[in-house]
Amino acid sequence: MKWIEDELRKLEDRSLNRSLQISATVSGHQGYVLRRQKTLLDLSSNDYLGLARHPAIAAAMTQALLAEGTGSGASRLITGNRPPYGRLEDALAAWQQSEAALVFANGYMANLGVIQALAGRGDVVFSDRLNHASIVDGIGLSRAEHVRYRHNDMEHLRLLLYKHRDAGRKLIVTDAVFSMDGDQAPLAELVALKREYGAILMVDEAHSGGVYGARGEGLCHALGLQSGVDVHVGTFSKAFGVYGAYVSGSRTLIRWLVNKARPVIYSTALPPSVIAGITEALNLVQTERHRRERLAASSRQFRSSLRMAGFQVGPGDSPIVPVVVGDNATALRFSSALEAEGIAAVAVRPPTVPDGTARIRFSLSAAHTPDDLADAANRIERVALRLGVLAQ
Ligand code: PMP
Repeated sequence: MKWIEDELRKLEDRSLNRSLQISATVSGHQGYVLRRQKTLLDLSSNDYLGLARHPAIAAAMTQALLAEGTGSGASRLITGNRPPYGRLEDALAAWQQSEAALVFANGYMANLGVIQALAGRGDVVFSDRLNHASIVDGIGLSRAEHVRYRHNDMEHLRLLLYKHRDAGRKLIVTDAVFSMDGDQAPLAELVALKREYGAILMVDEAHSGGVYGARGEGLCHALGLQSGVDVHVGTFSKAFGVYGAYVSGSRTLIRWLVNKARPVIYSTALPPSVIAGITEALNLVQTERHRRERLAASSRQFRSSLRMAGFQVGPGDSPIVPVVVGDNATALRFSSALEAEGIAAVAVRPPTVPDGTARIRFSLSAAHTPDDLADAANRIERVALRLGVLAQ
């Protein structure tokens, strides 16, 4: 195992080492996190709507835990398929205005399972270069040809679709909102291209589900494009504040996934308590509109404060606000200095982002107040000036 130690040392030399830090919740203070005995404003979590500590979700989970036990005991195709699963999936399909929906253990597994079920040898998957790692891994598992197009570059995608026009099945996959950049995919153009080339279009709404749409259905719905998208994937681990994921689409698609998606077939069903929590969260995501409105206002406020301070924060209006600093060591120094100033903001480095684009990824939550964010923007500016990330 010595080679591992050598490789780890190399990672350290390049400021690419990762280690687990303990982050604890702060009683009575949502939107904050406790690290190394210090209370920090949490600008790193994906709890976009501030639902992760909602008492109604906790109550639903506790009740199910006491009534139905701690584990589901088997995969859904064996004996793990409890009645609340089907009820949740009906509610998800109604929310998504789709024929059917299927719950997965998490977004990572959903992407793995869907791509591997829809594409195989002889097929081609067209994937945005900045798509999430779970999409990349799903393509690997599928053994289809992996064709990457330049980020959001529809001319490049068109060229590649034309080049592979005689391939077997063609699947186009994109994040709706990109996880490390916070920008949006050009969904209308993607729908037009998939129609032109007879491809399947799959959209991952991990960072847009709950955040966009009148009832939090996601970006495709907010743009009126839902019927042009064949496969919608979303997670319950971020805006929903719980855990798990869904796929929605046609009845035929869902039947196929039940037969072919390996994470559904070969893994134990989520515990009943988690299903109960998701069910309650789905209700709150649809009805508690004020959370979405607060988040949108926070995103505008925070982006505008950082821009005024001189940062380039990238396009879009999502709750993901990246500040690219370039090299890995600077990103780490920036993140530690922010922690010393009372802000938890993670340095994101390669391979999560391309080489030379290390960054701080700020993520916002409806749990933050306007004062929290105004104060944070001031502190971020101060730290950046001190470190030379911003010119004096
Ligand atoms: N897709 C995207 C775009 C993501 O950012 C993530 C989570 N980081 C996932 C999928 C995986 O979702 P989960 O955390 O539920 O596994």
